[in-house]
Amino acid sequence: METVGTLSLTPGEKALRVHERLCVAYGCPIAFFHELDPLSELVSALLSHRTRNRDTGRAFRQLRARFPTWQAVRDAPTAEVQEAIAPVTWPEQKAPRIQAILRELTARRGGDMALDFLGELSVPQARAWLESLPGVGPKTSAAVLLFSRLRMPALPVDSHHYRVAVRLGLISARIPVGPAHALLTALLPPSWDAQQVYDHHEVLMLHGQRCCYYQSPACERCPVLDLCPFGQERMQEVS
Ligand code: SF4
Repeated sequence: METVGTLSLTPGEKALRVHERLCVAYGCPIAFFHELDPLSELVSALLSHRTRNRDTGRAFRQLRARFPTWQAVRDAPTAEVQEAIAPVTWPEQKAPRIQAILRELTARRGGDMALDFLGELSVPQARAWLESLPGVGPKTSAAVLLFSRLRMPALPVDSHHYRVAVRLGLISARIPVGPAHALLTALLPPSWDAQQVYDHHEVLMLHGQRCCYYQSPACERCPVLDLCPFGQERMQEVS
C-alpha cells in the first residue's frame, strides 16, 4: 500500500490511476497499428529487436516481396534472407534465427506453420507455447498475441514502458524487463480486453517517448507527477 497525498493506493489501484490519467493525455482508445496474421507478426517482432519501426517495416515488406511464402523463406539460402532483411540491425543473426523458428514450427505443426490455433488457447498457454520457440521471450510472445489479428489481452513491455513503470514505482528497478511482464500484467484487472491492455501498453510507451525521457524527463509537465516517487524526488532536487 502506498500513500499518495492523503490517499493509500495498492499497486493495482495505482496502475489504474496512471492508466486513466495517461489515457486522457494520449487519447484512448488507441488504434491498433496493423492487423497481421500471427506468424507474420512473429517474424515482424523478431525483425524489430533494436530496430526503428520504419526499418522493420521496410525489411518485412522486402522479405514478403522476395519470397512468396514462409516455406520459401524457411528453405532459402540464409544469405538471401539476410539480404532481404538488410534494413534491420543484425540481419546476419536474425536471418538464421527466423529460419530456425520456421523449421521448428514445421516440425511441431506437421507442416502447417500458421499460428492462428493460438487463439483457441488461454493467454498463459499461448505465451508458454510461443516462448518455448528458440529466441522468443515474453515481449515477443505478448506482441504476437496482442498486435496480430488474434487480439489477445497479453501485455508487452518495451524499454519505454519499463522505464516509466520503474520510475512510477509500479515495479522495482531490481526486476529485469523479462520477469517484469508477469508482475506488471498482475496489476491489471483480469477482465480487461485486448483494447484495454493495448491502450495500457501504448500510453506507457508514449509517455516514455514524449515526456518521461531516458535523460531529463519532463516531470514539471507530467500528468502523473503526484503518483511518481522518482519525479517528486527529482523536482525537489531542482527546486
Ligand atoms: S514524474 Fe517524471 S519520472 Fe515520473 S513518470 Fe512523470 S516524467 Fe517520468
